[in-house]
Amino acid sequence: MSIKQEVNLKNKLKEVFGYNQFRGNQELIINNIINRKNTFVIMPTGAGKSLCYQLPALSLPGTAIVISPLIALMKNQVDQLNAFGVNAHFLNSTLSKSEINRVKKETLAGEVKLLYVAPESLTKEETIEFLRSAQITFVAIDEAHCISEWGHDFRPEYRRIRGIIDQIGDLPVIALTATATPKVQLDIQRNLQMDEASVFKSSFNRTNLYYEVRPKHNTKKQLIQYVKKNKGKSGIVYCLSRKKVEEIAELLRVNDVKALPYHAGLDSNIRMANQDAFLNEEADVIVATIAFGMGIDKPDVRFVIHYDTPKSIEGYYQETGRAGRDGMEGNCLMFYSYDDILKLEKFNKDKPVTERDNSKLLLQEMAAYADSAVCRRKQLLHYFGEAYEKDCGFCDNCLHPKPRFEAQEEVQLALKAVHLTEERFGIDHITAVLTGLRNQYITSYDHDKLEVFGKGKDQDAQFWSSVLRQVLLSEFLEKDIENFGVVKMTQKGHDFIQNPHPIQLTKDHNYEQEVKEDEEK
Ligand code: ADP
Ligand code: ZN
Repeated sequence: MSIKQEVNLKNKLKEVFGYNQFRGNQELIINNIINRKNTFVIMPTGAGKSLCYQLPALSLPGTAIVISPLIALMKNQVDQLNAFGVNAHFLNSTLSKSEINRVKKETLAGEVKLLYVAPESLTKEETIEFLRSAQITFVAIDEAHCISEWGHDFRPEYRRIRGIIDQIGDLPVIALTATATPKVQLDIQRNLQMDEASVFKSSFNRTNLYYEVRPKHNTKKQLIQYVKKNKGKSGIVYCLSRKKVEEIAELLRVNDVKALPYHAGLDSNIRMANQDAFLNEEADVIVATIAFGMGIDKPDVRFVIHYDTPKSIEGYYQETGRAGRDGMEGNCLMFYSYDDILKLEKFNKDKPVTERDNSKLLLQEMAAYADSAVCRRKQLLHYFGEAYEKDCGFCDNCLHPKPRFEAQEEVQLALKAVHLTEERFGIDHITAVLTGLRNQYITSYDHDKLEVFGKGKDQDAQFWSSVLRQVLLSEFLEKDIENFGVVKMTQKGHDFIQNPHPIQLTKDHNYEQEVKEDEEK
């Protein structure tokens, strides 16, 4: 990049946004898209993704299209940009005919720098027609994980974006997301036909966040205690249903906590007022469904509580990511019960089969995370494809370690089972082989004839599933990126079968037992 270009970008950063420096990869990313290269940005929430397309949009002649899935999010960003003196608009279903015409006219006149478009507006023939005649510089696809059925937020219209961009013109694309597991990343790149894109992936580690999981037991009491201990601090409490949101908000209020509800069933005026009250610190706590938070920028949220077990690790990570954006204290507490997992599974029963199976796998990952006594951060980062060798020392499992046991034989047996079943199955199936469960899958593959069949029957399925997951975290196994849920051997795994060595594993939580002991005290 030329020095002049560099200086110009820096000036714009200061002049328009008031910032002195770029953060992380922002400058590299911005230059990449300015140079018309396809760009793929994976950055955790709050890291500053928006600037990566907003600033280049200002530096290029013409209009950048921003595809964004949420109307509220669009409006937020457009308002913010307008306040900075930038000409930005959106096109979505909330606009009247005449407003749409005005936006189109301004865009065709070359005055609009950023045009936010909802995917369902983008797919309309008349929108495509109009965009073809405008001078478009590049296309930004925000929340790009919506492309993938394996993300936590699949939007079918997102699948049509590539075809539409091709109809508009030969345009560079910048896709951005805060949640991309390796599987989702592959899906996004394939679907957008940007295998050759420059990928900028930042670390997902949020060192200032403390992760904690507690069994759902006396949950209301625990919640009140927790919130009272954090009196005056900003916090979000996520619940799964609107009804629960109302109930918990009320519970907190009668306990002298300044709490307000937020969910899609509330009148939009009330919803907005409650959101504003939270942002302006008239309310300390917002009790919300997951509808709350996308695009909300409150840097000093001190705690995020999941009152109900979330549907996926991606969702959980995204939501916990709203704590401590300013880099200061951030506590993430999740209440967990297997009943919640079963309830969530029931919600899925009317979905099409593949979708249901996908959701189930995501739920199983969630349950495994909660049950596991391994460092939470290690598990989370591993889930997002990031290696993290040591334990973090700043999560409940690190601060209150569970007993460990010598597991050389168990690890070897588990690896053998994966190897002998030809690396084509998931953890449940391997577990069934080890415990000697003769179900229809096992017999149809003749896996009951394997030497490892039933070799681990002294332990239960939960034990073996925990061994396998820990072995996965230690990279003796890896996830098959093409086949969700399937685990494969790594070289390290093969080596271990040949030359085993002592290795310690951690005993999982048994929350029910823990609760019982607690009651006996
Ligand atoms: P994301 O979309 O990645 O969740 P945002 O784009 O909303 O994050 O940015 C998060 C916050 O960081 C915003 O308040 C934004 O203004 C701020 N921010 C972004 N880039 C910079 C920068 N270079 N310097 C200071 N603050 C920044
Ligand atoms: Zn830890």
